[in-house]
Amino acid sequence: MNASAPQPLVFHANRPGQDVAARLAKVVSGAVMADAASCARYATDASIYQVQPLAILVPASDDDVRAATEVCTALGVPIIARGAGSSQCGQTVGAGLVIDHSKHLNRVVAFDASAQTVTVEPGIVLDELNGWLRKHGLWFPVDVSTSAQATLGGMAGNNSCGSRSLYYGNMVHNVAALDVRLADGTEARFGPERDMNDAPPRVRELVAALRSIGEREHDEIARVVPRVMRRVGGYNADVFNPQSERPYTADGSVNLAHLLVGSEGTLAWTRTLTLSLAPLPRHRALGVVNFGSLHAAMAATSELVALGPSAVELVDRTMIDLARSNPSFRPVIERALVGEPDAILLVEFTGDDAPATLRRLDDLEDVLANHGLERHLVKVPLAAEQKSLWDVRKAGLNIMMSLRGDGKPVSFIEDCAVPLAHLAEYVDRLTEIFRRHGTRGTWYAHASVGTLHVRPILDMRRDGAQKMRAIAEEASAIVREYKGAYSGEHGDGLVRSEWVAWQFGPRLTRAFEAIKDLFDPAGVMNPGKIVRPSRMDDASLFRFPPAHRTLALDTGLDWTAWDVQNDPRTGALSPPGSGGDPAHGFAKAVEMCNNNGHCRKFDAGTMCPSYRVTRDEIHLTRGRANTLRHALSGALGPSVASTAVRDALDLCVGCKGCRRECPTGVDMARMKIEFQHQWQREHGVPLRDRLLAYLPRWASLAARVAPLLNLRNRSPALAALMERPTGIAAARSLPQWRRDPFARQSAATDANADVVLLVDTFTRYFEPENADSALQVLRAAGFSVAIAAPMAADASRPLCCGRTFLAHGLVDEARREAKRMIDALVPHVRRGAAIVGLEPSCLLTLRDEFLVLGLGDAARELAGRAMLIEEFLVREHADGRLTLALDALPERRALVHGHCHQKAFDVAGHVVTALRWIPGLDVEMVESGCCGMAGAFGYGVDHYDVSMRMAELSLLPAVRNAPADTLIVADGTSCRHQIADGTRNDRRRDAVHAIRVLARALPAAARDGATTTVAHSR
Ligand SMILES: Cc1cc2nc3c(=O)[nH]c(=O)nc-3n(C[C@H](O)[C@H](O)[C@H](O)COP(=O)(O)OP(=O)(O)OC[C@H]3O[C@@H](n4cnc5c(N)ncnc54)[C@H](O)[C@@H]3O)c2cc1C
Ligand code: SF4
Ligand code: SF4
Repeated sequence: MNASAPQPLVFHANRPGQDVAARLAKVVSGAVMADAASCARYATDASIYQVQPLAILVPASDDDVRAATEVCTALGVPIIARGAGSSQCGQTVGAGLVIDHSKHLNRVVAFDASAQTVTVEPGIVLDELNGWLRKHGLWFPVDVSTSAQATLGGMAGNNSCGSRSLYYGNMVHNVAALDVRLADGTEARFGPERDMNDAPPRVRELVAALRSIGEREHDEIARVVPRVMRRVGGYNADVFNPQSERPYTADGSVNLAHLLVGSEGTLAWTRTLTLSLAPLPRHRALGVVNFGSLHAAMAATSELVALGPSAVELVDRTMIDLARSNPSFRPVIERALVGEPDAILLVEFTGDDAPATLRRLDDLEDVLANHGLERHLVKVPLAAEQKSLWDVRKAGLNIMMSLRGDGKPVSFIEDCAVPLAHLAEYVDRLTEIFRRHGTRGTWYAHASVGTLHVRPILDMRRDGAQKMRAIAEEASAIVREYKGAYSGEHGDGLVRSEWVAWQFGPRLTRAFEAIKDLFDPAGVMNPGKIVRPSRMDDASLFRFPPAHRTLALDTGLDWTAWDVQNDPRTGALSPPGSGGDPAHGFAKAVEMCNNNGHCRKFDAGTMCPSYRVTRDEIHLTRGRANTLRHALSGALGPSVASTAVRDALDLCVGCKGCRRECPTGVDMARMKIEFQHQWQREHGVPLRDRLLAYLPRWASLAARVAPLLNLRNRSPALAALMERPTGIAAARSLPQWRRDPFARQSAATDANADVVLLVDTFTRYFEPENADSALQVLRAAGFSVAIAAPMAADASRPLCCGRTFLAHGLVDEARREAKRMIDALVPHVRRGAAIVGLEPSCLLTLRDEFLVLGLGDAARELAGRAMLIEEFLVREHADGRLTLALDALPERRALVHGHCHQKAFDVAGHVVTALRWIPGLDVEMVESGCCGMAGAFGYGVDHYDVSMRMAELSLLPAVRNAPADTLIVADGTSCRHQIADGTRNDRRRDAVHAIRVLARALPAAARDGATTTVAHSR
């Protein structure tokens, strides 16, 4: 639901797509792209395939799509419709014009509360739609795992299915009508057949021809279409003779929209969708049944389904272990376990009456008691706990994909659907097939409908293609024996279209071809999918074909942890550096992005702030990883240090949101450092970057002329004059230099202090009172404190974490600073002192980048003891070593904004915990992403606008809405600056570091400090 104006036209006509792009540029107002890097970003989806498109259109309106359809049909250029591009089968890749409907075509068009229907444009995301519907007590219940990314257009394209399909059905059961455009430009509403008499003549003829195919194939449909609900392969020709376990329509009538659902953009472009809605479930109860073996879980499924649950979902042993190894999932999964199960089933009941719904868990218990399993049930009655468990289940695939090395879990037989009676045997037989082929699979998902996800680990660069074919052939034979469906959820695309003929036989395959030709005689709509397909193992279509090569690279950071191979049978990794990556692991780290699109998020979490503002693929973590991957393969030129990569990384603010939230651990902030390093090496360091990077070195000098430097903030004319030479936006205020920087280094040495306080450059020169407050609080809590200081032989300047150097790619300088820090602090670490800091981005550098600067075990030792101050206080408190007497403050409320790096390291919550020690203070964390300032990012004239838009996403509105007597708390220097800058035109709000709030709450006597000492090492 993006209301922003269409983007200006972007046009780089330097590829074979130039004819299309040139023609399009004249007739559309959306963005048209045909440069190699843009095409690279749209060449993949969440499948193993990759095909470079000719051009990309991000239409500003449906008129753009109309115009583009005309151009493509005239030129015979394929049209590939695309939403979030989260398809797993290669549906959205192809050598044509990719039309990305997700940025602008995402509005709610009509809503009828009494009929419980909504009409939407194809680009609206499921979670956004359901957020919009919530106030009406309704939802669209096809709850796919990718609900935060999947667009309704893409969901209809794939006939998507949610975890609760047992209860609500698939897309086909929930779409009431589709307004579409055919390749020849004809526009029509496809809905109930009886309502289509007024359709344009072309459509009436089409419908008549479809009906005659339906009648002709009536018996064949009954003979070959599997009678399972989860069958999404081929076209839904069975609308004329329904075979789905769940009826397509309540009265058995024909709805022609259902024939288009699941057609993967091969028949028509969906302009709008009219969807049937369901009342929001009022109550849910969840039971987790623990089984000693996967076989036992599968054998029990049909009996559990007979109880009428809304979902029965499987999580197997491997997935349980993987979830346990993830810090955010561990506590959740462990609460659901009884002993060490080999598999668990999540059994959910839905109802309008709370006690009655809860009692369904007793029914479940009774059934389990018949098998002596009643003690193996964990009841989860609370909604919040249920959600956490569902989040673990939904993250299943992504958790699995985090395996390092070239062997990856590959999607090709991962959603076969078999009748429940055969489920246990199916699992056993397929497991045996995997074993024979030297691999294994992890099993999870929709047990209730016989659709189990499983991906064997294959190496597509080596023998993966051969094994894929062999396994697919053996698996398909079992599916046929059980009268199941080979394609039960994710669609056909490039990986399964070949199997349409296998599933439906030659006669229905010809009928499908006839249907395709009736809709799209010129064959321009997403050709090669569903009918007339390529082979699934055509290596020329692979993202990583055997011929895949990577440029050799001398990296600045240590990436060897990614330069590994895995054993497909056990998942065990070879030693770091043994993976054979000519880029020493950097390429393999980049390749961890499997394009699942999880970074396309707009609400929860931090990732990815730049995309949230622009909604452009280039500004998505995925877009950046794809650009880098292509650059590393040499596809964007002879060097990785290309302008294409620089442009893609330009708006990456280094927030590390991806480090924590990307399920496969793509750490773009670190990758940007590496890229900047490569860039600076090749192109030199511009003066502006040099100035910012070396700030810690010239800061002491600046402090001496503070009044002069601070003049700039008081004179708009001076700020404007300086904008060009410095690149700093005139609209920005700059941090105020202090004439009285923190300067306690001259005090005595204390080699025995409990805590060594790291006073970073920003605290030292801009807000020294933060360090004073830290000293007061630590001492009041009974700790002896020393200030971190360099080795005596190297004392010409204070210690520095090197962050400003890292931010500008000056890795060698950063390493020098890190080495000084390690030399100075490790002796204190070894004697058991805690190293405590105030500025999240500085302190957490010790725990993050220091570990990849090649500084060995000493860096790891330091990282193990480096903590943010609230983290330290909370830990000491939890261990019973801290008592802090605090008084109430005049303010009763505090609003906390967590710095992105605090969130990335999961330590933002400690700020809230510590502030809650203040009597009567109501502390709330703002649901905010990045503040947009991100170090020096937001000061740049070229970034100012984006920076402010990031802040306006949630942080600034929350701050403005806070009552005047609310304390605004932010530990990041740049976050505080952004808050002040962003509110200065109305009611200016100044944020403070949490330690200042704690210090203010100290009783007056406790605030009078003892002397500070200096932590010298000799
Ligand atoms: C981690 C992960 C988990 C997943 N979990 C599920 C799950 O639980 N259930 C499930 O069903 N799927 C799942 N999927 C697959 C995928 O997310 C869904 O199929 C999703 O609905 C696709 O939406 P999309 O917007 O990404 O569509 P895209 O991938 O962009 O497109 C899907 C298809 O629709 C066509 N299309 C798109 N827009 C139009 C249009 N306007 N007109 C005509 N055709 C159009 C495309 O050409 C393509 O063939 C999962 C994928 C991943 C990576
Ligand atoms: S960057 Fe991470 S979250 Fe984004 S698509 Fe790639 S793997 Fe998924
Ligand atoms: S570091 Fe932040 S801005 Fe950069 S890609 Fe990751 S989430 Fe996006």
